[in-house]
Amino acid sequence: RTVYLDGRFVPFEEARVPIMDRGFLFADGIYEVSAVLDGRLVDNAAHLARLDRSLSEIGIANPYTIEAWTRLQIDLVARNGLTEGLVYMQVTRGVAERDFAFPAAGTPPTVVMFTQGKAIRANPLAETGAKVITVEDLRWKRRDIKSVALLAQVLAKQSAAAANVAEAWMVEDGVVTEGSSSTAFIVTGDDRIVTRPLSTAILPGITRKAVLRLAAEGGLGIEERPFSVEEAYAAAEAFYTSASAFVMPVVAIDGRPVGEGRPGPRTRRLRELYLAMARES
Ligand code: PLP
Repeated sequence: RTVYLDGRFVPFEEARVPIMDRGFLFADGIYEVSAVLDGRLVDNAAHLARLDRSLSEIGIANPYTIEAWTRLQIDLVARNGLTEGLVYMQVTRGVAERDFAFPAAGTPPTVVMFTQGKAIRANPLAETGAKVITVEDLRWKRRDIKSVALLAQVLAKQSAAAANVAEAWMVEDGVVTEGSSSTAFIVTGDDRIVTRPLSTAILPGITRKAVLRLAAEGGLGIEERPFSVEEAYAAAEAFYTSASAFVMPVVAIDGRPVGEGRPGPRTRRLRELYLAMARES
């Protein structure tokens, strides 16, 4: 297994980051995840654009151009012989003596990339559908930044694991913000796809954007608005999206079946449309 660290491709076992790395001490950094299908990156330009935005929002200069990032990703995928899975990228504010304030200008950021094999298209959960629970959203106020400060999501996902379900939907003031690592959607009885509008309260999901585009092209009605937990319980269908799950049907929320308790037809259609798009990327 080969990973990328600070300008070099190195064996996984040899990749080490110093204890004074600000990512380790402060979670002072950002990350990005792109899917790989049939050896090709999916919707990758949008992921690299979000990586660039996350960096700029926390004042780290992007160490590479978009073209350079893309070349590194393609190289890493090839070196690892990855056909289906994920490319993970992380940039932290680098290594410096411990102090909350930014280190001296010119301190190089730490850049890490690695691949993970994962069945995304052939994920059995997509056939049966995923169960989710709801948990309180404990996060900070800039959730639009893909920060490596993920403690609230770690705790949310562990609550899901403890409940033997796939995902936790986070709730604030009675409305669903998003999943611990996904965007939350419902389909109403009158056939409208509902998801929260973009703001600092959620991550601008790349898969979300593609699915909304595909839904619009497919003539499905869309409403970008917050939805309550009660509305989700009563929804005809529900699903979540992410680079690693694509479109995942939700068949139960807090132990209550969604619709008939099986993946719904609109969700299945959107997953098919997304897979077709991913094959072409
Ligand atoms: N929301 C959160 C909090 C996430 O962590 C993620 C992905 O990890 C998403 C949404 C989905 O984003 P994307 O579709 O870009 O993977």
